[in-house]
Amino acid sequence: VKYVFDFSEGNKDLKDLLGGKGANLAEMTNLGLPVPPGFTITTEACRTYMTTSALPPELRVQVTLAVRKLEDDLGRLLGDAHDPLLVSVRSGAKFSMPGMMETVLNVGLNDSSVHGLAAFANNERFAWDSYRRLIQMFGKTVLDIDGELFSDALDAKKSQLGVTGDTELTADALRELVDDYKEIVRRESGRDFPQHPREQLDMAIEAVFNSWNTDRARLYRRRERISDDLGTAVNVVAMVFGNLGDDSGTGVCFTRDPATGMTGDYGDYLQNAQGEDVVAGIRNTLSLADFEKIDPSAYADLRAAMRRLEGHYRDLCDIEFTVERGKLWMLQTRVGKRTAAAAFRIAKQLVDEHIITLDEALERVTGEQLSKLMFPQFDSSAARVLLATGMAASPGAAVGAAVFSSSTAQEWAAQGKDVILVRRETNPDDLGGMIASVGVLTSRGGKTSHAAVVARGMGTTCVVGAEALQVDVNARRFVVGDTVVVEGDVIAIDGTSGEIFLGEVPVVSSPVVRYLEDGLDATIAGLGDDEATIELVEAVDAILGHADTARRLGVYANVDTPADAHRARSLGGEGIGLCRTEHMFLGDRRVLIERLILAKDDATQEEALAALLPLQREDFIGLLTEMDGLPVTIRLIDPPLHEFLPDFTELSVKVALAKERGETGPEVDRDVELLAAVDRHREANPMLGLRGVRLGIVIPGLFALQMRAIAQAHAARIKAGGDPHAEIMIPLAASVMELHLVKDEATRILADVSAEEGVDLEIPVGAMIELPRAALTADRMADVAEFFSFGTNDLTQTTWGFSRDDVEGAFFHEYTEHGVFSVSPFESIDVQGVGRLVRIAAQEGRASRPDLRLGVCGEHGGDPQSIHFFNEVGLDYVSCSPFRIPIARLEAGRAAV
Ligand code: PEP
Ligand code: MG
Repeated sequence: VKYVFDFSEGNKDLKDLLGGKGANLAEMTNLGLPVPPGFTITTEACRTYMTTSALPPELRVQVTLAVRKLEDDLGRLLGDAHDPLLVSVRSGAKFSMPGMMETVLNVGLNDSSVHGLAAFANNERFAWDSYRRLIQMFGKTVLDIDGELFSDALDAKKSQLGVTGDTELTADALRELVDDYKEIVRRESGRDFPQHPREQLDMAIEAVFNSWNTDRARLYRRRERISDDLGTAVNVVAMVFGNLGDDSGTGVCFTRDPATGMTGDYGDYLQNAQGEDVVAGIRNTLSLADFEKIDPSAYADLRAAMRRLEGHYRDLCDIEFTVERGKLWMLQTRVGKRTAAAAFRIAKQLVDEHIITLDEALERVTGEQLSKLMFPQFDSSAARVLLATGMAASPGAAVGAAVFSSSTAQEWAAQGKDVILVRRETNPDDLGGMIASVGVLTSRGGKTSHAAVVARGMGTTCVVGAEALQVDVNARRFVVGDTVVVEGDVIAIDGTSGEIFLGEVPVVSSPVVRYLEDGLDATIAGLGDDEATIELVEAVDAILGHADTARRLGVYANVDTPADAHRARSLGGEGIGLCRTEHMFLGDRRVLIERLILAKDDATQEEALAALLPLQREDFIGLLTEMDGLPVTIRLIDPPLHEFLPDFTELSVKVALAKERGETGPEVDRDVELLAAVDRHREANPMLGLRGVRLGIVIPGLFALQMRAIAQAHAARIKAGGDPHAEIMIPLAASVMELHLVKDEATRILADVSAEEGVDLEIPVGAMIELPRAALTADRMADVAEFFSFGTNDLTQTTWGFSRDDVEGAFFHEYTEHGVFSVSPFESIDVQGVGRLVRIAAQEGRASRPDLRLGVCGEHGGDPQSIHFFNEVGLDYVSCSPFRIPIARLEAGRAAV
């Protein structure tokens, strides 16, 4: 097996095998950009390592050959005592996991090659500093030694010498520090720091493989839905040094602004620095404009490389580079992560620049990003107390209690509080707290700092580099001017402007929602000269418009009221896919249902039904009026009866108390009677009990009443000159016999109403497919049902045997932890199981009734991944809540291109 690829052998399409970093380093090498030579060990080697817990034997041989080649090309030997070759060992998975895995720099340094490095660099101090960094990184990541021990030793050395900055430590001090570090290694790991360069290399490679499975890496993958099976590649790269002096440095840049998408140079540069210094946010960085002043020629080379890369990848690129004594080296590039707004703007800009097509633009944005743009924003007209302004790193409007540690963030969030994590800078161990927080605020670091990159990836509001804040995490407070904010105080941060406010700030709707509801012209007219927002709204319009042209799936709404129907229609809904009629019986009308359930004789029952009829008719007329010309799928009443009745325990207590106090009278009598009824209707598993079509069959008159109301509303709309398209939908059927019973009655009622009203009524009757038996007998169900709508909530519940009301909070956390699934099957369709039932039912239903209309109205109808699946199995539409409609439109378009 070929486990090792020289950079000249790979390319950007080999990300599965070489990881993102390796594939892109190869691509840059092939483009002739200045990449230090090196090689990539494949993800396949990592997967083998994970199953066998040992490096594959061929790997060692192939690494030997690759190192030889590197040595030959550069004319230096790894760890040589004279002019040594040093390498970095970097992780690089298929999907970028910023800061989650390990990197070891300066591999090859030992007690003798440190002198060779000093001679090459003509700089003793630099050589000893590099050596102590190696021992520190190696100790922490390879030998698992607590990193604090090294930083404490570093601090001790500084205070011993009365200096504050790392750079003030002399060569002699650093040499002593190396001895201290070696002692720490010996004490903590029970072995000496390995002097042999090849041993260092092999151990570092193994450590990178192992870092794939650290807790934080697993947590990140769960969050980002990245599979645990992929493994990471390892890149071994000849070292170049950004810390040789002020003519050297290291930086990160973007070809466009990843926060806004606006064109221009965006980046951070640090003089005389190495590796993680920039992203760790340890020192505040310089802009690229400053970099140009410091080193115009290296800057010009960087500009040329940026142009080249953006043209080549046809997208925003993010780049890591190092300048070694005035020479530019490219250390990494990738198509950069970006905010939701930037994604839309950049995609549209690239279309306008004729760099990509509209189809490609559609692939560059996601429904999840669109949903972020629909979030509310701070109301700028409200009175606000501005504390400071930092850098806008990840947009959104977050309000929450300030907390100063990752653990507090997690604790408070678990109690249901909104928290904002405030740190000087974040590090990868803060990931848990960042996930738990509604916002992240740091006082140090730039737009490429760990906090910024991670928050952007998660879509969490983030402001970084707010230097005015003096953050004291130990005292759990920050000070800005004369204001002291202590843990628990409410603050608000604006990830679009970088502003930080004291206290609550009210929020207003987003311009994208205004556009979706009111249209382009009206929205732009209201935006004045806010060019950036206008550009955003135009980008959404162009791309969403293209999605509408491209998509095959219809997008319907799950709504029960005319007001929601109106909203759904304005957001692009093309019909109602699910009206849950039980919602019409809550509130004041609950007593009518109660009366129906309690009715002892036919007459009382008739009376109760008669009272409901006009109310239902008006409900349906309202919906049919709002949705004139579009389908309105009305589901007959579905939930278990107890949902309409008082709580058994509460009522028992009330009756018992009344008896004890000797109270009497009609009210007490009624409660006693009611209690008996509630008791009669109690079920151990109500979701599997008397509900759905079973109610329709067991309680005579209930479905009939609803069907009559639908027919009358339909007729009324026709007479009023409207264009109604009502449809009757039967819930929770498992057998075609159930459908027969209801449909026969429907046919009778429709004929009656048609005769009474003197209009033709074409109202299709269809079935929800929510039970495995219904899916597996779809061919027979389709004999009766004129359409199917997949109720994937119940279908998931009954296929997995998971109580949908209980399991998610109870143990899904453990289930995702153990990898049973990476995301709840109630959130994203379980393709293998529930999805298979959908596929079977779609195929077999259509086989028996070729014009059978197929839709889905479970929560999955608004979930991006599920929408792609429904498109693939050939459904006609998805139905979701009104606010998910634009997302579903976009994803349905993406699924089709
Ligand atoms: C379903 O089960 O997927 C569905 C849409 O019905 P409900 O959520 O009302 O049970
Ligand atoms: Mg259901």
